[in-house]
Amino acid sequence: MSTVSPDPELFDKIVNLSKRRGFVFQSAEIYGGFRSTYDYGPLGVLLLRNVKDAWWRSMVQERHDVVGLDASILSPPQVWQASGHLANFSDPLVDCTNCNARHRLDKLDDPEVCPSCGAEGSFTEAREFNLMFKTHAGPVTETAAEVYLRPETAQGMFINFANVLNTSRKKPPFGIAQIGKSFRNEITPGNFVFRTREFEQMEMEFFVPPAESQQWYEYWCQVRMDWYLDLGMNPDKLILRAHDDDELSHYSSGTSDVEYLFPWGWDELEGIANRGDFDLTQHANASGEKLDFFDQATNERYTPHVIEPAAGATRTAMAFLMDAYDEEVVNDETRTVLRLDHRLAPYKVAVLPLSKKDTLTPTALRVFDAIKGRWMTDYDETQSIGKRYARQDEVGTPYCVTVDFDSLEDRAVTVRERDSREQDRVSLDQLEGYLDERLS
Ligand code: ATP
Repeated sequence: MSTVSPDPELFDKIVNLSKRRGFVFQSAEIYGGFRSTYDYGPLGVLLLRNVKDAWWRSMVQERHDVVGLDASILSPPQVWQASGHLANFSDPLVDCTNCNARHRLDKLDDPEVCPSCGAEGSFTEAREFNLMFKTHAGPVTETAAEVYLRPETAQGMFINFANVLNTSRKKPPFGIAQIGKSFRNEITPGNFVFRTREFEQMEMEFFVPPAESQQWYEYWCQVRMDWYLDLGMNPDKLILRAHDDDELSHYSSGTSDVEYLFPWGWDELEGIANRGDFDLTQHANASGEKLDFFDQATNERYTPHVIEPAAGATRTAMAFLMDAYDEEVVNDETRTVLRLDHRLAPYKVAVLPLSKKDTLTPTALRVFDAIKGRWMTDYDETQSIGKRYARQDEVGTPYCVTVDFDSLEDRAVTVRERDSREQDRVSLDQLEGYLDERLS
């Protein structure tokens, strides 16, 4: 275990930055805000998309043994009956008879003490509360029309196992990956976008011959840890924590969580589970379809076992934001810098004409036009250049390109790097190559 301690002050700084700079807004804010739902603003949508793209690249594009899927969010009760969610996807809920606060029993530090008011022994008996959102398909609100919003993307992969197997010509070991929204009627949403009722997941189901499951489980634990580290996450704030036996689901022979040191302490980013043949067997039994694999090489038919790395995209984007946040004192002034990996930074480049004068605008816009196809580029001509550098540092833009009056003569621009603040004079015809070397 690392020796770093959580930084509680970071939480408010990130919430403020998110709102002030347009990463994350409270949903329906003009109507007083809709609790626990958030909208991703101009910068947040880029960061979130970059997190998802980095995951997709490493989990699908760069692998010959994983294919993608985009399954529906609405699904019939049979799916959730077979998966066990209708019976078991619930949290134990207790109410405090003193202050009426509602808590998840399994998340309380002391199951006897209400953390809201401090009362002892004031809780009601625990009730199991199912976390799935139910709605109705079509105009009739009768039981027969009940459908559910998926609480995880994983079942889409299981119920399409045969479709993918038959169309992709893959055979175990192979995986199906999906990124998409999931919905859980959480009892205690909170910690900003960490736990919300609507969120995005990045999940992959990797189907393997039963004898190879332990080896693939260990493999995926390692690969997933490496993904966060490769994208620049502080290794002292990341751990892989194996579940104790009493935490494991009955079908799982091993689960480990990737945990990050959030401002409130260690908490989950991703779970990697060895799920055995539970899911395919459940759906095969319930649907009557064969969900197995015939291995022609060995003449054997078997139900593959599943290794599942399941991550939260929205939660992970926030973790990267927190991890990148830095303050340093430069010339007696505090500078805020998001030291985001280039691949995650919302904007890669900002083009900044030194002044708003008409003489500079055409050249600056030409620079913008020349690079906008390659990199997400901001164009900003408001305020002083110092303020504009500070604004770009604060949102993690790796390179600022300044067009000044000399540029009109020497056909060159000043390129400033975010972390070192070092500046290079680069000729306009070399600019794309210069950025390419550093951003690719
Ligand atoms: P928790 O114990 O935090 O409720 P979980 O173990 O139920 O999470 P999983 O079902 O394993 O979570 O989901 C996989 C991932 O999806 C989690 O690691 C997390 O990153 C993300 N996730 C789950 N629930 C939420 C939520 N309510 N809000 C945001 N992300 C979530």
